[in-house]
Amino acid sequence: MTNCAITECRDYTENELDSAIRKIIENTAFPEVAGKTVFVKPNILSDASPEKAITTDYRALDAFLRILKEKGAEKIIVGDSPGTQTGKLNASQCRISEVVKKHDATLSDFREENRIHEIDGIKIPMAKALDEADVVISFAKFKTHQLMSATGAVKNMFGTIPGLNKSPMHFRYRTPESFAAFLMKIFDECHVDYAFLDGVIGMEGPGPGSGTPRHVGLLFGSANAYAIDKAEAMIMGYKSVPLIETAEKIQRGISDAAYPLLKPENLVISDYKRIGDGKKNTFRSLIIGTIKNAFSKNSNNRPKPVFDIDKCKACSRCVNVCPAKALRIENGHVVFEKRKCISCYCCHEMCPFDAINVN
Ligand code: SF4
Ligand code: SF4
Repeated sequence: MTNCAITECRDYTENELDSAIRKIIENTAFPEVAGKTVFVKPNILSDASPEKAITTDYRALDAFLRILKEKGAEKIIVGDSPGTQTGKLNASQCRISEVVKKHDATLSDFREENRIHEIDGIKIPMAKALDEADVVISFAKFKTHQLMSATGAVKNMFGTIPGLNKSPMHFRYRTPESFAAFLMKIFDECHVDYAFLDGVIGMEGPGPGSGTPRHVGLLFGSANAYAIDKAEAMIMGYKSVPLIETAEKIQRGISDAAYPLLKPENLVISDYKRIGDGKKNTFRSLIIGTIKNAFSKNSNNRPKPVFDIDKCKACSRCVNVCPAKALRIENGHVVFEKRKCISCYCCHEMCPFDAINVN
């Protein structure tokens, strides 16, 4: 039985974070880090200011790195690679690079430092830090996710694939279920020893990049990342999410997890703005979707992105990230070829100007 600790953490003040993290560590199977190289993988979906709740909060990372050093970690590597990363890794607005510097840790840029892995017969570059580290820790953010309903400690490790290399994976694994199974393979490849989830301020609504920050006041930690993600989904009020459904089918030890501190079933936020709320799949819409699928390789009955031309700045980020080549810029505007779209929502995730909605 693996413990998953959920504890109250009202804000990002040093004392609050310090006592919450220590309590979590005491109540779970936290790995030995003395004399070891530890790779910590926060969520830096894009380099955004902490107030937007897009990234793992730098103050939570700061408190954790302090504890890691106190426990004798020899070397700490911190890194992530945003899906649209084409140049050097930038983590200044989210203030993570500042924290890395403060603790004499190393900020790893996976675009420059990676090694090829083979998964499902495909060659995929992944962070070299995975090879260098004795201990791997996922430090994720409590957020909704347009494709997967929620993003957490397991999906966070998808970021070990550098930048635009992630995008073709969406084309290969087009349904939430097949993508969930792929995420689990990536997670296995990372050999994650432990996971935290920053739910002090989470994100609700159209996550993971365009939602609204919401105070949740919780921190999570466990050697079983699936147990964390299951708790997150329950607290958000989901009956099920694709990742947990897939993981439960193949017995990822979720049913063996115990919650020794707070119990997720007592923490459900009933008015949390979930993905898909208010848009029930009617029998008619499912039938229409199935007929459409029969006639088009790319069609599905999931909603498609909608582009707000008044907000669009023609920055091309969505064009670069779209795995289906359904987007282009013409005369200073984004042009969308709906029939090519596979509803992966990478564009929605990456637009820095909130110019893409999903309806
Ligand atoms: S929709 Fe967003 S990401 Fe795409 S070009 Fe316009 S501003 Fe850039
Ligand atoms: S248009 Fe957006 S949702 Fe559609 S395939 Fe391209 S990135 Fe994915």
